[in-house]
Amino acid sequence: MVVAELKNIGKIYGKGEASTEALRGIELKIEKGDFWAIIGPSGSGKSTLLNILGCIDIPTSGEYFLNGQLVNKFTNSQLSAARNETISFIFQYFALLNEYTVYENIMLPLNCRKISVREKKQLVNYYMKRLGIEGLSKKKPTQISGGQQQRVAIARALVTKPDIILADEPTGALDSRSAQMLIEMISSLNKDFKATILMVTHDSFTASYCDRILFIKDGKIFTELVRGNNTRKQFFNQILDVVALLGGDVRDVR
Ligand code: ADP
Ligand code: MG
Repeated sequence: MVVAELKNIGKIYGKGEASTEALRGIELKIEKGDFWAIIGPSGSGKSTLLNILGCIDIPTSGEYFLNGQLVNKFTNSQLSAARNETISFIFQYFALLNEYTVYENIMLPLNCRKISVREKKQLVNYYMKRLGIEGLSKKKPTQISGGQQQRVAIARALVTKPDIILADEPTGALDSRSAQMLIEMISSLNKDFKATILMVTHDSFTASYCDRILFIKDGKIFTELVRGNNTRKQFFNQILDVVALLGGDVRDVR
């Protein structure tokens, strides 16, 4: 089942001489359960692509279909419904509310949902347990580690059962050990829940946990890689080979 489809998507910021062509002719089909990494040098359009998929930015040209519906024609209320119900974001810097507890942060996206309080509590408890953070429910984000904060952000992203999870450098602010634990967790969520995940990363090791890699350069698709039957290690080496061709400032941490 196709969840999202981009047809010949272009994005230009600004006008005239001061304009920047951030995306050019992007074609992409995302199926339910897909686990994509997006790799590219800085300024290549990764965040723009994610923001368009997340309905927080609109393309200048081309067509975006979300669950078969043409997003270009969405009204503001349809766009915000898509952002609240269909899509979840995970950011590099967690974006948790520091004055609320872990539990309250995860509950936040459920607050305006028309389901019973009991059901909401069950959902929050379920995902806290699944992410191994149930012992932290009464803590504030500032009282837990970066890796734990990112687990809270992931629980908050999952609790609404979105059709797509978009993550912009989710491991970018973590040390390598915490980053590995986090990507292993994200990978298991993809397998267990058939969660559809697109993750921007500059780290080939993190990307090697995904099933598909989209390499972008200068706003265009450079190439795609599919893991197929390769082991993670083989896939990692394939990714490194493409990164070498891609050039730019894509870092390889390990
Ligand atoms: P990446 O995430 O790969 O680093 P971005 O998608 O953030 O790249 O940016 C792609 C290009 O678009 C860059 O040249 C950037 O400067 C430009 N850009 C991004 N957002 C804006 C904006 N809001 N206004 C103007 N230019 C922007
Ligand atoms: Mg970016």
